[in-house]
Amino acid sequence: MKRVYLKTNEMPKQWYNILADLPTPMDPPLSPFTKKTVTFDEMKAIFPESLIEQEMSDKRWIDIPEEVLEILSLWRPTPLIRAERLEEYLGTPAKIYFKYEGVSPAGSHKPNTAVAQAYYNKKEGVQRLTTETGAGQWGSALAFATKMFNMECRVYMVKVSFYQKPYRKSFMRMFGAEVIPSPSEFTNSGRAILEKNPDSNGSLGIAISEAVEEAAGRNDTNYALGSVLNHVLLHQTVIGLEAKKQFEIVGDYPDMIFASCGGGSNFGGIAFPFLADKFSGKNVDAVAVEPASCPTLTKGKYAYDYGDVAKLTPIMPMFTLGHDFEPPAIHAGGLRYHGDSPIVSKLYKDGLISATAVKQLEVFQYGTLFAQLEGIVPAPESAHAIAATIKEAIKCKETGEEKTLLFCLSGHGFFDMASYDAYFDGKLEDYEYPEDLIEESLKNLPEV
Ligand SMILES: *Cc1c(COP(=O)(O)O)cnc(C)c1O
Repeated sequence: MKRVYLKTNEMPKQWYNILADLPTPMDPPLSPFTKKTVTFDEMKAIFPESLIEQEMSDKRWIDIPEEVLEILSLWRPTPLIRAERLEEYLGTPAKIYFKYEGVSPAGSHKPNTAVAQAYYNKKEGVQRLTTETGAGQWGSALAFATKMFNMECRVYMVKVSFYQKPYRKSFMRMFGAEVIPSPSEFTNSGRAILEKNPDSNGSLGIAISEAVEEAAGRNDTNYALGSVLNHVLLHQTVIGLEAKKQFEIVGDYPDMIFASCGGGSNFGGIAFPFLADKFSGKNVDAVAVEPASCPTLTKGKYAYDYGDVAKLTPIMPMFTLGHDFEPPAIHAGGLRYHGDSPIVSKLYKDGLISATAVKQLEVFQYGTLFAQLEGIVPAPESAHAIAATIKEAIKCKETGEEKTLLFCLSGHGFFDMASYDAYFDGKLEDYEYPEDLIEESLKNLPEV
């Protein structure tokens, strides 16, 4: 069976909360101002109560509201596809499956959480959201989601992407969002950066500071984050829950699961429902795949750190390269984040998941090979998962192991063709692991 579809009424009705099953408890996030555990009231300045409750919840299953299910059903359930032509090309005894999230309105997994976040904010009387976007995927998802609930949305877009990816900006405008290149004159954080460097290209950390500052300063406005936080990964578990049902239908089960890892949301989304089985004894290895130029898990340090440059977000326990680390300008903007989800970090620290880093050129090489064999243009972020899966499938060929491999095809790459052009023109390069920069940045971790 090449493609496994579920019916609309087979969509998961509950999210899976891995916090209920972690073998050891998480360390709490700390307030950037008091350095004590963040309180419910502090979080209320920028998040609705229901999301704060989910952020801290230890309930194993959380109901997905009917209104959210209805919008998700515009594109969910998403297909599970067996990449038979890729298997044949590689001559591997491994079976390769992928879960395709590129069929969503924004072209990635990100609307899975954007819709839920917009819904809860609206329900609690918030009409307006701010956020940041790097490559444009998250801004597109939130623009779509806020439009579904007739809310307003302002997106601070990292300045270099604002000019390099004009069609992402057009997409957000089509769904009614206001898109502002960051750093901007609208916030103290933006003005401070511009004063020091009027030509700043911006970064995800700066854009987050601007969006958080605005939301904290306005009563009618909240902030929405597209990755990293517990509630975001919770909403993404629809991916893995669907995949589990689809594997039941084909009578198979993955030995290894691969997903690209920026802030950890598509990884958590596909892997956590399978990790629930692992906690009860099943043998499954989940592998987070990151860029060699921004190697948060494989080369970072497990420590308390800020989520942004201006130190406005809670201090979280996570693998980090330092909050002021600026990774090289790789063509997978969604993976250029200095930190990682606290849950994913904890699982990695406790040896319950693995991680690997891949280089930019092999990412584009295998991404292109995948498109040529399977007919889907992968986002460069997703191509990281493809590269790691193919390398494993080649290993299986050498050892003769008949493993079942699953990867998350987190998005399509139709807005990323300029990056593919750079690859075809031979202009892409492999960046060295920026050891000195990381070492420098890790000196600035907060003392807690
Ligand atoms: C944002 C993005 C990622 C990385 O973010 P995670 O939170 O780590 O999932 C990966 N793939 C695509 C297509 C994205 O848009």
